[in-house]
Amino acid sequence: MGRELDVLVVCEINVDIVVSGMDGPPRFGAERVVGDVTLTAGSSGVLTATGLASLGLKVGVCGMVGDDPFGRYMLEHCARHGIDTAAVVVDPAPPRGYPTGASVLLSTTDDRAILTHPGVMAQFGLDQIRQEALARAGHLHLSSFFLQAALRPDVGRLLDLGRGLGLSTSCDTGHDPEERWEIGDLLNGLDIFLPNEVEALAISGATSVEGALAGLASRVGTVAVTCGAVGAWAARGDERRFVPGFAVRTVDTTGAGDAFDAGFLAAILRGADLETAVRQGNACGALTAARVGGGVIDAARVNYLLGDRGVQSGE
Ligand code: ADP
Repeated sequence: MGRELDVLVVCEINVDIVVSGMDGPPRFGAERVVGDVTLTAGSSGVLTATGLASLGLKVGVCGMVGDDPFGRYMLEHCARHGIDTAAVVVDPAPPRGYPTGASVLLSTTDDRAILTHPGVMAQFGLDQIRQEALARAGHLHLSSFFLQAALRPDVGRLLDLGRGLGLSTSCDTGHDPEERWEIGDLLNGLDIFLPNEVEALAISGATSVEGALAGLASRVGTVAVTCGAVGAWAARGDERRFVPGFAVRTVDTTGAGDAFDAGFLAAILRGADLETAVRQGNACGALTAARVGGGVIDAARVNYLLGDRGVQSGE
């Protein structure tokens, strides 16, 4: 730390339009009244940045939005949460440029369908990332590797560039929608890797979390593998830590992984040991699972969970 920004999150930027309170799937040729339609900030990277900012870190995002209401909404979200957007490129309005990416999430009580238009997210590449933007930060976090189609082939060069400028690096790939799990030389450029259990097994080719940790930790300095409500593992060299999740009443797990990343990274960047970092990541993930939506993390509640009162009740 010590630079203008503690963390620069290089990310896809999109809004989520969440349709909830549906009593069944939509039908073409018919109108259905639903309980709620809400516009919220989407994108793993922006949610992780929001979590880091709520934990008191100086954070910036680097990505691309369109010159449209969704783009302005995302820039306002960042401004409201104290996230620096100097490295966000605003593309010209169509037909010269592309619109801001958007996902429509249709949510019934037992299932969810997501419709995504990537828009300008699919155009954001290494050419749009300025070296001066990287040089302002102490750490570079890359989100949603598989969704960032234009950036993906150059991720190795981006991480080399960051490291050359003295930044440490981390990545949460997110799920591969094509389930091919080809990550090229991504791991070579990382100091910290943050997959969930499914991603860790698919990327490492292992059949157990322990096997995945061993394989990944032989290539990346620090690895944390999240396992939903169960908790999370972390590895560094030969060190292994498992910390059980906090027992909360689960409401909506959207963004739990992004919140874990924020809690874990904030702790590691502040010099905490591995176990403390996993505990803080778990606390942030649990608090996010206990309410609707992701992003903002209540630092006072995190501290309460991490205090000496044991596993909390009443969440
Ligand atoms: P992702 O969203 O990337 O799939 P996980 O579902 O593994 O990530 O969640 C990340 C972390 O958030 C977990 O390791 C855990 O600490 C916490 N978490 C997630 N779901 C719950 C839950 N239902 N109850 C308590 N903690 C949870």
